[in-house]
Amino acid sequence: MREIVVISGKGGTGKTSITAAFAHLAANRVICDLDVDAPDLHLLLDPSVVREEAFISGHEAVINSDRCTACGLCASMCRYEAIEPDGDVYRVAPLRCEGCKVCVAFCPEQAIDFPDRHCGQRYLSDTRFGPMVHAQLFAGQENSGLLVSRLKKEARALAEERGLGLILCDGAPGIGCPVIASLSQTDLAVVVTEPTPSGVHDLERVASLCEHFRTRVAVIVNKHDLNPEHTGRIDAMCAEKGYVLLARLPHDTAVTEAMVRRQAVTEGPDSEIARNIRDAWHRIMDLLQS
Ligand code: SF4
Ligand code: SF4
Repeated sequence: MREIVVISGKGGTGKTSITAAFAHLAANRVICDLDVDAPDLHLLLDPSVVREEAFISGHEAVINSDRCTACGLCASMCRYEAIEPDGDVYRVAPLRCEGCKVCVAFCPEQAIDFPDRHCGQRYLSDTRFGPMVHAQLFAGQENSGLLVSRLKKEARALAEERGLGLILCDGAPGIGCPVIASLSQTDLAVVVTEPTPSGVHDLERVASLCEHFRTRVAVIVNKHDLNPEHTGRIDAMCAEKGYVLLARLPHDTAVTEAMVRRQAVTEGPDSEIARNIRDAWHRIMDLLQS
């Protein structure tokens, strides 16, 4: 089984449009949206949910107002300042609670419950390109790395069960926890970048992260024609570091037109960018076999 993750140093580089096109071109794949903080692959793939489960991670403190005597001890002990007066009692601000349980342990009235924290939803869906695992983390919730690990595990189990040989992931932007989790056991990281000063810098950071985890790096320069000088810097970096330069994609309105149709750009009328992405995909297949 092979795993590919498409990532970028920051959001808005065209990563998801490119992943959707790869999902269209790939065969025998499980599609996995690991950008759990801001998933948007579903907008292009229009999944039908087959199974939905709560993502539970950690606990949160909840004050039972019937038992609270408003002594204020919990508020003075909470180092995260998550407890505040609320009329005659005290209440916990859920987004600030770190689930450390100190208040639960010291409340003299045993007035603080400590239920599981419902952080988001996980989904298994069908799409026109095959099965897809995805999720939505609720606003302000953490543990996105854990959720990414769970999604990858689920995708592997699904691929095994259905005899599918490829897991294609849309990763999170940046270099945080979800990206680190998405690189685990990945055969190839396809890094999408743009020819701007921050694009060059972000590529450097995310590619170093991949190197640290011994994941092979291949690079796609999106909208390469916007700034030939920075595209040249990216070419030089790839040559120096040994990253595979998969494609230089032009700025092309075909991508936006495909988005409006809620399609991958390779599904629509022939265009230069669709041809470039097909070539890049064939190169990826070659790389996975080498
Ligand atoms: S320690 Fe218990 S009783 Fe005192 S304010 Fe907090 S919840 Fe209420
Ligand atoms: S569990 Fe910890 S962080 Fe949450 S309210 Fe209690 S003391 Fe504060």
